[in-house]
Amino acid sequence: MARPPPFIGPIRGGKGKSRTIGLSMSTRIHITVSGAVQGVGFRPFVYGLATRAGLAGFVLNEPRGVTIELEGPREAIGVFLAELESSPPPLARIERIETRETAPLGESGFRIRESAAYGERSVLVPPDLATCSDCLREMADPSDRRYRYPFINCTNCGPRYTIIQDLPYDRAKTTMADFVMCSACRAEYEDPANRRFHAEPTCCPVCGPRVWLADRAGGEVPCGAPIGEAIRCLSAGAIVAIKGLGGFHLACDAANTEAVALLRARKHRDLKPFAIMVRDAAAAEAICRFACDAERRLLESAERPIVLLDKLPAHALAEGVAPRSPSFGVMLPYTPLHHLLMEGPFRALVMTSGNLSDEPIAHTNEDAFHRLAELADWFLLHNRRIHIRTDDSVVRVIAGQLRFLRRSRGYAPFPVKLPFDTTGNEILAAGPELNNTVCVTRGEYAFLSHHIGDLTNLAAYEAFLQGVEHLQNVLEVYPATIAFDPHPGYLSTKYAREQTAKGVPVQHHHAHAVSALVEANHPGPAIAVSFDGLGWGADDLLWGGEFLVVHDYARSDRVAHLESVPQPGGDAAAKETTRMAFAYLHAAFGADAVRLCQEWFPDQADRFPLLARMIARRVNCPHTTSMGRLFDAAAALLGICRYNTFHSQAPMELEAQAHLAASEQQAYDAGMVSSGDGALVVKSTDVIRALVNDIRRNVSAPVCAARFHNAVAHATLCVCEHIRKRSGLSTVALSGGVFANKFLTERLVSLLENKGFNALLNAAVPPGDGGVSLGQAAAAAWSCKKHVPGDSSANY
Ligand SMILES: [Zn+2]
Ligand SMILES: [Zn+2]
Repeated sequence: MARPPPFIGPIRGGKGKSRTIGLSMSTRIHITVSGAVQGVGFRPFVYGLATRAGLAGFVLNEPRGVTIELEGPREAIGVFLAELESSPPPLARIERIETRETAPLGESGFRIRESAAYGERSVLVPPDLATCSDCLREMADPSDRRYRYPFINCTNCGPRYTIIQDLPYDRAKTTMADFVMCSACRAEYEDPANRRFHAEPTCCPVCGPRVWLADRAGGEVPCGAPIGEAIRCLSAGAIVAIKGLGGFHLACDAANTEAVALLRARKHRDLKPFAIMVRDAAAAEAICRFACDAERRLLESAERPIVLLDKLPAHALAEGVAPRSPSFGVMLPYTPLHHLLMEGPFRALVMTSGNLSDEPIAHTNEDAFHRLAELADWFLLHNRRIHIRTDDSVVRVIAGQLRFLRRSRGYAPFPVKLPFDTTGNEILAAGPELNNTVCVTRGEYAFLSHHIGDLTNLAAYEAFLQGVEHLQNVLEVYPATIAFDPHPGYLSTKYAREQTAKGVPVQHHHAHAVSALVEANHPGPAIAVSFDGLGWGADDLLWGGEFLVVHDYARSDRVAHLESVPQPGGDAAAKETTRMAFAYLHAAFGADAVRLCQEWFPDQADRFPLLARMIARRVNCPHTTSMGRLFDAAAALLGICRYNTFHSQAPMELEAQAHLAASEQQAYDAGMVSSGDGALVVKSTDVIRALVNDIRRNVSAPVCAARFHNAVAHATLCVCEHIRKRSGLSTVALSGGVFANKFLTERLVSLLENKGFNALLNAAVPPGDGGVSLGQAAAAAWSCKKHVPGDSSANY
């Protein structure tokens, strides 16, 4: 983020002129502060700072940020600005401070001025933030009027994005408009010196929302202490649906094996890990290990994401919480209601999304009764409406930094700054099919929606439509251009093609590459490594192990890729990993593959002659260069995972094995050949052949898994060195879902850096498909801006 200009020396003039402040007794300056400075306690902060410094003037919320006028001694103004720059309110994100001198008016006293009607909207909508320490202190104080009140909040914390229906951000345009403030709350709300000055969700037990417990039929359970009653139910092994900030959670006691098993059965979820909530960092340390300080900081941050942490061997939670996974997804309480719940006698609570398998999370009381009645025994409800459903964000520390697996609550819709201005060329990017997010640009910003999910059912598609509409409404931008993934089967693609706006297809792996380059403010040219499960290729094949030379945000060439192998059964092969194992053995050993696989997977012996015929006759066997499918094949051959019950299960379990042999440095060799069109081909079948040899020699699964990861890292380095020799490029952007793999990513980054490459990784958006909409938006905006012809390999 740009540092604000210092006050010392010339002050920036409004129309490009600069002049130095004179030495007159009283000086008046006009300051505009842009960034996320509304709804974060900025005006009371300015009020306190100005009055302490004895300065006159005013502060005012304006469409583009906050305007301040200060009058008084020059030194005092200097102190004010230094303080504003060095320690703004914790949740404010200052983008720019501009100052200009005006004539002193002889004003006395400092005021917070009422905002006039807005001509144009502020572009930065604040995200939802965890309860602050001041509010927690009040909530624990028996003499406070909000003692144990589950909706306590202030200008530094509480709901934002999830309750905002329209902008500008004030109470009437949030779902808190349902509640009329009592006189005590209003007095705080109107007092500039108060922590709740213009905190829009301000409320108390007298005037605000309330909590109650309901049974499955929707009937309120008469009780004086609904949260205490919910704790009692959870302790007794019940499953409770809990309405939170962005939607419902399904909760149970994470140490209760039967309750966890029951929740899995009811949710139809066999193996995908459940997220858990613990009281505080110390409680997290009783079950997990912090591998670095960054993990602890993330866990305790105001954004409160789910952080993946290594399990301790003696964690004492039910195995069913995260079976076959070496880590727990852990979060701390982020609403007052959570804090009160966590007073219960739990080591941890399972807090998984309130939905059935792949559907969107339930977010209204009616929807919860409708969809969760079979899943939950009890419902802990409240009457503050959630306008936009927002799942918990999921993060992991890789190569020392935060990486998103899912970017949603706490982060959305905070924008990513683009390296160029899109004014006049605003873009709506429709995103891919899996882990969909959408993106709208406005000026120099790209706004990514919350996580919308997999667009594989009608409910998800409806959530997608609502997400598109909401994002455009709060930004008041209705782009004339829509970027989309060229995959013909995606609902997001179908949506884009149905709109009257001009459509710009952006190839999937190019979009991944651009997302990483844009974040790093790197204009290209650069090498990009784009590894994932699947993306529609420019040759109508399934890509996923791609090396690009990105010329600029709109154009790239595919210069290398994994060997192409058949994917017998198409989508079915993305689930049943033995299909890919067979396809690779067939490519490596020819007709012997049938016998080999029958020995390897005797219970599926009948399937392999059939797969061989499918491949020979090219029936339902699209060709793929996917890195994800190569991981699937290796996981199947090692007996680690034969079926992906959730997205990326086999690669995740293969990675978990590799971590058990972290000191292993050997790597399988992969040859390289030139294809007909001049692209380099990585012989992934060499890797599979070497893996098969190791398995036959009874080398352990962890060592094999580590050698496999090392092979991918070394082959990638080798290709990058080839490309550097030809192009002179030494920056490598790494993007795609495979880079959520910590083992591979950290090895590869260190190999690249040792050879003098500059490796760029996503940190502001997910490397996986949740970040694709950013790349789509930037690519389309750039091609519109530069009038790049729409027929290159990237945009066609
Ligand atoms: Zn607070
Ligand atoms: Zn009140």
